[in-house]
Amino acid sequence: MVEREKLSKLSDLALRNRRVGLTKVLPPLGEVLRGSLMERYLTCGNPECKCARGERHGPVWYLSVTLDQSHRSGCTVPGDQAEQVRWWIENYHQVKENLEKISDINRERMRRQKDKAKKRKNVQK
Ligand SMILES: [Zn+2]
Repeated sequence: MVEREKLSKLSDLALRNRRVGLTKVLPPLGEVLRGSLMERYLTCGNPECKCARGERHGPVWYLSVTLDQSHRSGCTVPGDQAEQVRWWIENYHQVKENLEKISDINRERMRRQKDKAKKRKNVQK
């Protein structure tokens, strides 16, 4: 949020350069995944098993994905996939963060264009 207030102090050139920079540091756009990776301890359903007495199995990696306000999806993640999934999730956040920053810059540029148009009009009067 601090970032947002700073933009108005930057020059047009600095804004443009920042925007170009943000598009250059994007991770590969196909290598993304939205969700959270978490450790889970599970019960297997066998009433004779130790897990039925509270000693659950695990930990296992679990991917949890929010689909909308009332729906979630998820699946277990094999140990050898966990690192890739973690990387995809990190990439997702990086892309999202950069798009958010680019949007902020473009809103600031819109505001300046409007200001300039207004000033031009005032000069003509
Ligand atoms: Zn069990």
